[in-house]
Amino acid sequence: MLDIASLTELLAQPQKIVITTHHKPDGDAMGSSLGLYNYLIQQGHHAKVIAPTDYPQNLSWLPGNGDVIIYTENIPRSAQLIADADIIFCLDFNALSRINDMGILVGESSALKVMIDHHLEPADFDDYRYWDINACATAQLVYKFIVKELNHPELINKDVAVCLYTGIMTDSASFSLPKTTAEVHLIVAALIEAGADGYYIHEQVYNDSSESRLRFLGMCLSEKLEVLYEYNTAIITVSKQDLEKYNVITGDTEGIVNYALSISGIRLAAFIVERTDMVKLSLRSKGEFPANDICKKYFNGGGHRNAAGGMSNSSFEEVVNQFKLILPEYKKLLIQ
Ligand code: 5GP
Ligand code: MN
Repeated sequence: MLDIASLTELLAQPQKIVITTHHKPDGDAMGSSLGLYNYLIQQGHHAKVIAPTDYPQNLSWLPGNGDVIIYTENIPRSAQLIADADIIFCLDFNALSRINDMGILVGESSALKVMIDHHLEPADFDDYRYWDINACATAQLVYKFIVKELNHPELINKDVAVCLYTGIMTDSASFSLPKTTAEVHLIVAALIEAGADGYYIHEQVYNDSSESRLRFLGMCLSEKLEVLYEYNTAIITVSKQDLEKYNVITGDTEGIVNYALSISGIRLAAFIVERTDMVKLSLRSKGEFPANDICKKYFNGGGHRNAAGGMSNSSFEEVVNQFKLILPEYKKLLIQ
């Protein structure tokens, strides 16, 4: 393991740096990656953000987005950058499996790997770790890494601030989730002072829906929501045909699971969607209920206690049934 003094010394000279984040990046994944990117380029580093897959259109306005490489759309160039890198920053994920095929290349690269993350149970693939499960977002950790560890508060410029604000805002559900501490608000205040405009960012991220996305949401709520009161659980299940009918694109399904969780008394919500190559599950829970436990045990996934995900190669109908059959095992925790 590297210490902060050696890392600081290394970063004092321009380095070839790759920043990557988890598959299907969300606001925190892209916000923290581009926040770090906008910090590093101020010091003359050759930095590139490589996203393992595409990501929602409502993140494409982030400063630095034009310089992001999407791995699946440019494999040879990504592979070259990863192989040539001196340092690879791994942001908002805890295991190389979370970056799909890219994980093999990152694992093979001789670059130093720096993990900045807030997920449970990090795997052992890094040389330096800035990790805190109590952080509400990886963007919060990137802020502290720059300001406290690397001692560069003056390099939190407007671009860095905008990106980190976006990460914190999205992962904390607009500053509403339990990990939104006083420290988070102080960091957010500093980001606003550095130039982040909260109103503008909120508009870009949340008020940029297409009409079809809104109609898709309406259909999910009126036709696809099933409430299993016996288990305080609500599920929304969406088939491939539904996705096609509403021309659903990356990002359109984001957050829909939260509507199911907003029903009074509901402790567990699931959004189960039939993608082309697999069935994907998004789980959300309230309080102590371990949504990540279900994902880890049954659906090749994991995540946080209250927000987790997984996948299955079984048929859509089988996965929906399997999910329902699992609930009795958790009944005690669900009805308390
Ligand atoms: P979402 O439901 O928004 O896709 O994911 C919520 C959280 O669950 C993510 O922040 C991530 O921590 C976790 N997660 C989602 N999908 C997977 C997965 O396939 N594997 C693992 N290990 N975690 C996942
Ligand atoms: Mn995150």
